[in-house]
Amino acid sequence: MIKVVKFGGSSLASAEQFKKVGDIIRADESRKYVVPSAPGKRHSNDTKVTDMLYACYNAASEGKKYKELLDRIKDRYNEIIKGLGLNLSLEEEFKVIEKKFVEGAGSDYAASRGEYLNGIIMANYLGYEFIDSAEVIFFNEEGDFLAEKTNVILSKRLKGIERAVIPGFYGAKESGEVKTFSRGGSDVTGSIVSKAVKADLYENWTDVSGFLVADPRIIDDPKVITTITYKELRELSYMGATVLHEDAIFPVRKEGIPINIRNTNAPEDEGTMIVESTCRQPKYTITGIAGKKGFVAVNIEKDMMNSEIGFGRKVLGAFEKNDISFEHVPSGIDTMTVFVHQPEFEGKEQAVLSEIHRVASPDSIELESDLALIAVVGRGMKSTRGTAGRIFAALAHANVNVKMIDQGSSELNIIIGVSNNDFDSAIKAIYDIFVTVQL
Ligand code: ASP
Repeated sequence: MIKVVKFGGSSLASAEQFKKVGDIIRADESRKYVVPSAPGKRHSNDTKVTDMLYACYNAASEGKKYKELLDRIKDRYNEIIKGLGLNLSLEEEFKVIEKKFVEGAGSDYAASRGEYLNGIIMANYLGYEFIDSAEVIFFNEEGDFLAEKTNVILSKRLKGIERAVIPGFYGAKESGEVKTFSRGGSDVTGSIVSKAVKADLYENWTDVSGFLVADPRIIDDPKVITTITYKELRELSYMGATVLHEDAIFPVRKEGIPINIRNTNAPEDEGTMIVESTCRQPKYTITGIAGKKGFVAVNIEKDMMNSEIGFGRKVLGAFEKNDISFEHVPSGIDTMTVFVHQPEFEGKEQAVLSEIHRVASPDSIELESDLALIAVVGRGMKSTRGTAGRIFAALAHANVNVKMIDQGSSELNIIIGVSNNDFDSAIKAIYDIFVTVQL
């Protein structure tokens, strides 16, 4: 059995956290490949080392004062080394880093040092081999991740190595220049390593006990989702529920490797299993609820629209021409509504409207702003009657006016449009009817 374990920044923010991580790794001998993030926040007002590195690099490369910023970064690492009682000095590493900062080695290089140095400490602490990700994870010169090349080289490199630490977040272009994934990208590294070693499980350790059924800022102490499929996860993450980097699912999904989200501060919790498919039915019919505020509905009316071939294409073309992506397009006989993101739409509003008039000659166009979309997601909906009925009854009782309904043909989700002001009460009503009351 092989497990790849990735630890997020808050799991490695201090020596105390490192010790918890060490205990977790040592508790299961199949935890063979470790992917660390950079030290994150120790408390809510703290700064992540990654952000400190960006700031320090910007100052150094612009010829401004940077020494104090660099010293603070050194302190973060030295505190960890000291707290763990390691016989390790990063002084030589810091000399190289400082020189490269002043030379202007690039902000990706700068940010990557957070995971690089944490990886060195982790390898020393565990007695595992350290592998620099710049030697095994590749990007092309345009900055696109090279999945094939990486997999060939990384799997070959790890083949003979029983236990290793591979820092998250970065790799290198073919020219050798360091390149990072987008923020939170250590999740992606964990997934790439899992694929390369054909892991049985990818454990992603963070500071929450898994995916929650709903946003804890809206629902007090929401339940944890025990098992979720990749498809459900994608629906929920798209709607704003973020625990895992979006790109982290692709490498493992194809290989059928499950991801287990776990909590470093509560290792006894089982967390959430993310799987390709499962016969385990979700406990509450629905798997999760997520949503986003800030949409505009563009309502287009035209008599006999239903018989006009190509009308929808022309209307959507007007959005495409203005580089606006649409979210949902519910339609009626003579009406069609296009949901778009308000901030993206606002600046281009008049250009889009005149383009629609020009290409599709509608009778009228009306705009409704400040709308929210809520996704109720669940593989269990397909085999349960009355899910939609329960959702809308709950919303009616909560006095929420439903402005739009869209159920995907996969029966995996129901999207509901409400006014921004009703967002919280709508989510509460849906959560209560399925989870609290469990009707
Ligand atoms: N340290 C990086 C960040 O803060 C990457 C990561 O933690 O996944 O975004």
